[in-house]
Amino acid sequence: AKESKDKNFAVFTPQMADKVQEQVQLERDLHRAVRDDEFEVFYQPVMEADGRTIHSMEALIRWHHPKKGLIVPTVFIPLAEEAGLIPQISCIVVEHTLQFLNDLKAKSLPLHRVSINLSGREFNHKHINELMGMIEDQGLTSHFEFELLESYLMENAEEVISLLDSVRKRGISIAIDDFGTGYSSLSYLKKFPVDKIKIDQSLVKDIISDLNDLEISKAVVAMARSLGLSVVAEGVETEAHSQLLSELGVDYLQGYFFSKPIPAPEMEAFLYKSENA
Ligand code: C2E
Ligand code: CA
Ligand code: CA
Ligand code: CA
Repeated sequence: AKESKDKNFAVFTPQMADKVQEQVQLERDLHRAVRDDEFEVFYQPVMEADGRTIHSMEALIRWHHPKKGLIVPTVFIPLAEEAGLIPQISCIVVEHTLQFLNDLKAKSLPLHRVSINLSGREFNHKHINELMGMIEDQGLTSHFEFELLESYLMENAEEVISLLDSVRKRGISIAIDDFGTGYSSLSYLKKFPVDKIKIDQSLVKDIISDLNDLEISKAVVAMARSLGLSVVAEGVETEAHSQLLSELGVDYLQGYFFSKPIPAPEMEAFLYKSENA
């Protein structure tokens, strides 16, 4: 790996210069996007283990770039992290979600919990207080959840624990995202005051063909049970996955098999349909 790294430094091609140029431009655009709010929040339903009843939703951001069209978060979230724009972006996501929940309320549609993805560095008291303040002003704390990556927890354990405590005391629940991909031992999780873990897609994907992944998933479910945490499986793409996972005792299922992330109006239709099914 070291050798190829050195090689990359030695050969700096015109294509690489273009790539750098493009990233610089995109970062400039991102500042404008934050200022003018060029974002849309999509929502993906999370189902009960029966696969029929909706349990909650995950908020997933999209960027409508005026020239490039729709940009997915895997492209711009890392840039936003570098540019220090994550706190502003999270405020925008929370604002959109509050608006969405208020719309649902106005239409007498059921209000489920919405989970918001947070990046590691924004998980500090000042910023989290700001987000919680926005949510409390609307009286919607019981309808929010924060998702944090496993790796972030492990890096700053002591600080994170006190912050998690205060978030949960104020009524917002906590989920650990992409669980099973990190290096942490399962028992390490005991230290963290959380409500839920989300089994990573990469584990779920191979659960049918790979005995190893099946065993890991079983262990995660068993450990979650013993700690009193609920478990979500992400990336559920087929009926076979859905069935196997609910047999394993997973509480909630999320994935393309049920629905892709969809814009707010489509999510409203989904909620209306599941209400009246
Ligand atoms: P994530 O939090 O792990 O979100 C799940 C991703 O998997 C989403 O990609 C979702 O569209 C996708 N997905 C859902 N079901 C399936 C499935 O059955 N199969 C497959 N192959 N994929 C599925 P998306 O929306 O592109 O988001 C990617 C990542 O970007 C998220 O991963 C999250 O880490 C980050 N992200 C998204 N929205 C935000 C945000 O508002 N703030 C921050 N900080 N990060 C965000
Ligand atoms: Ca997530
Ligand atoms: Ca995830
Ligand atoms: Ca992920």
